[in-house]
Amino acid sequence: MSVGVLAGKVALVTGAGSGIGRATCRLLARDGAKVIAVDRNLKAAQETVQELGSDRSAALEVDVSSAQSVQSSVAEALKKFQQAPTIVVNSAGITRDGYLLKMPERDYDDVYGVNLKGTFLVTQAYAKAMIEQKLENGTIVNLSSIVAKMNNVGQANYAATKAGVISFTEVASKEFGKFGIRVNCILPGYIDTPMVAVVPDSVKQQVVQRCPLGRLGQPEEIAEVIAFLASPQSSYVNGAAIEVTGGLK
Ligand code: NAD
Repeated sequence: MSVGVLAGKVALVTGAGSGIGRATCRLLARDGAKVIAVDRNLKAAQETVQELGSDRSAALEVDVSSAQSVQSSVAEALKKFQQAPTIVVNSAGITRDGYLLKMPERDYDDVYGVNLKGTFLVTQAYAKAMIEQKLENGTIVNLSSIVAKMNNVGQANYAATKAGVISFTEVASKEFGKFGIRVNCILPGYIDTPMVAVVPDSVKQQVVQRCPLGRLGQPEEIAEVIAFLASPQSSYVNGAAIEVTGGLK
């Protein structure tokens, strides 16, 4: 993406303390946006901000699965740069893998709460803020996963939420188009982040063998596509679900 293309924009990124979220903060800042780094783990979000510089970024502690936490973040986010974010990236996500017959209800609820309900809560709250402030050219990018299509054994909760993110994205794109807000999602393959660090080596080897590019992806390779979707260079891309997997299906 081009340096400076996001100058004057404010971006809010959830899950900004790690992996894809942190890499996204880096690239959106590189492209000129001011960045609000949101995470449940405030220390991790602060580390992201430390890297980017506090003149162009700020950290916020938010639990995206809590309506109250998300709602109270809106006023705080507005104060940070005296402007509502027009770029929102929903990268906060968790896994709680396990076979269905043994999956505790809690593991299902937790994954649903962050991955799907969290995407809903953040999208709703920040789209409202954009609309109320009559800000045009909003862009929201949601993180689905190729697991929404691979439907791996042991990932019923995760796969269901990530499939839900694709449908949610398409509905939101239809409802928000008239406000000049675009909504898209990305389906990453296996990306080398702390989330994948816990995947057994044998599974990672299988993934690498099945992947036409023969390797895991790097978080920056997802962040580049997010930066494109956040920019005016993707002005006619709306309601899309883009696979970024190195060709893994
Ligand atoms: P990660 O584990 O490295 O980072 C996730 C971040 O989300 C962490 O900083 C964590 O503190 C934060 N978070 C978790 N729950 C939260 C909550 N309730 N409120 C606020 N923040 C919360 O993960 P990642 O690999 O960077 O993944 C980012 C997104 O991309 C996730 O939605 C994930 O499902 C998706 N994804 C990742 C991969 C991959 O291979 N890494 C593949 C496909 C999709």
